[in-house]
Amino acid sequence: MFLAKTPAVIRLLMPHYLWKFPDSNRKIYLTFDDGPVPGVTPRVLEILRTYAAKATFFCVGDNVRKHPDIFRQVTDDGHAVGNHTYHHLNGWKTSDKDYLSDVEMCRSVLPSRLFRPPYGRVSRSQASVLRRNYHIVMWDVLSGDYSKDISPEQCLSNITNNAGPGSIIVMHDSLKAERNLLFALPRMLEHYASAGFHFEVIDEQKLRSHSL
Ligand SMILES: [Zn+2]
Repeated sequence: MFLAKTPAVIRLLMPHYLWKFPDSNRKIYLTFDDGPVPGVTPRVLEILRTYAAKATFFCVGDNVRKHPDIFRQVTDDGHAVGNHTYHHLNGWKTSDKDYLSDVEMCRSVLPSRLFRPPYGRVSRSQASVLRRNYHIVMWDVLSGDYSKDISPEQCLSNITNNAGPGSIIVMHDSLKAERNLLFALPRMLEHYASAGFHFEVIDEQKLRSHSL
């Protein structure tokens, strides 16, 4: 079953993860996972620039190694970056030792205190170690851009029906998501910008000010 909105009960059961910001003002936190990827990431950067929107990119370490110029463009544009492991590992299927060393390997190419587990899957023991050095950032709105069962229009409405002040939205700057992403991103930006929303990065200062 696909749930665009993370149920409140899940957020309550895992209070140590960041699901959304308790903002009452009009701010939205866009996040892009799995890049940097040639073609897709530069296109995303271009669209974000048009709306003066800032976002947070959870990068795969191996992609940063392969595409350092695109990665540099992401940070040069003023976006935040976070760790998404080096090899996009599933925490539920990986030993703690291998998982944690893969996260460290990613850190060697991309220093950041933000971490998002691939597939949202991280075990309790892995998370308890990671929490010493990282803020674990989840989401409250899943666009479903990566799914071939979701149309571009559905992807857009997954966002616009569910995101509000303080929301953290997940999208993917990947080839798999490209079609839905490039349809939904400019339209969601237009939708929320015309309603007076701003798009901001998730950074440490922001996390500290909410004591997260
Ligand atoms: Zn991912």
